Amino acid sequence: MTTCDIIVPCYNEEAVINAFYEETRKITDTMTDYRFTFLFVDDGSKDKTFPLMKELAAAHTDVRYISFSRNFGKEAAMYAGFSHSTGDLVIIMDADLQHPPTMIPVMMEGIKEGYDCAAARRLTRDKERGLQNLFSSAFYQVSNMLTEIKMPQNASDFRIMRRSMVDAILKLSEVERFSKGIFAWVGFETKWYPYENVERTLGTTKWSFKSLMRYAISGITAFSVAPLKLLFILGVLLCGIAFFYTLGVVICSLIPGASLGINSGLICILLWLSGIMELSMGILGEYMTHIYREAKDRPIYLIRQTNISDAHVKN
Ligand code: UDP
Ligand code: MG
Repeated sequence: MTTCDIIVPCYNEEAVINAFYEETRKITDTMTDYRFTFLFVDDGSKDKTFPLMKELAAAHTDVRYISFSRNFGKEAAMYAGFSHSTGDLVIIMDADLQHPPTMIPVMMEGIKEGYDCAAARRLTRDKERGLQNLFSSAFYQVSNMLTEIKMPQNASDFRIMRRSMVDAILKLSEVERFSKGIFAWVGFETKWYPYENVERTLGTTKWSFKSLMRYAISGITAFSVAPLKLLFILGVLLCGIAFFYTLGVVICSLIPGASLGINSGLICILLWLSGIMELSMGILGEYMTHIYREAKDRPIYLIRQTNISDAHVKN
């Protein structure tokens, strides 16, 4: 029987955690080909989330839990869930029932078809705040332009993954995690399932506009060195302008009778200095790019399938 772990990051979800378990169990109980285990991760909740989690675990043998010493964020909670999961398949979903459990059997079809991952994509964001909507689509556009990974717009974290993909994700052990990028970076075959956005009926969202902005900036810088490369290009551009400006000044000074303002010399110096400065920063940026890549310690490659057993692989 295929085993499947359902990872649920929870932060102050006392209002919804029991309803989540009940609703999801209703669906998973109909899927008799799989053995499901719930893995709740309490991300340092300050309300009754953790005691409720323990009650669930006492009452049901299919409930496991992890409780953090403090709030580390959803990214950390997902990572903890992945690293403590053992199932052949792993489902990641929010506790607030915004990820409809009815999608699980639908998405499972994708896994049966042979995909490594079945992921949900929100159809509409209409009911969310307008400004947030605008920033969200700007984020995807900028991010997809600057990074080599392509993230589909409105991709949610709600997904079913095979063990091989989860193991690949765990190989990216960076501290500053941005899962939407990581899911895309590891590759593997993903089938997308659109779903209608569901309003959160219980509890409140844990995101503020400020935290979303911070998350977006960290998402781009976690996957792109383009801003660093930009410094170099800017330096070359400024030095080019300085060169042609100086050339112009020199030619003008050779023409008899032509008068050059006193400022032209100053402008030459200014252009050269700022060009050289920007170029120097660009060179530093190049080195920082290397440090950045090495510091991330990402795997050099990821295998999807092989017929070579582990015993034959040299470490
Ligand atoms: N969450 C978490 N740690 C946090 C913030 C959120 O584990 O610091 C969990 C939260 O309990 C929920 C999921 O992440 O299960 C998504 O959070 P939320 O519903 O607030 O986000 P939204 O749906 O508004 O994007
Ligand atoms: Mg939510």
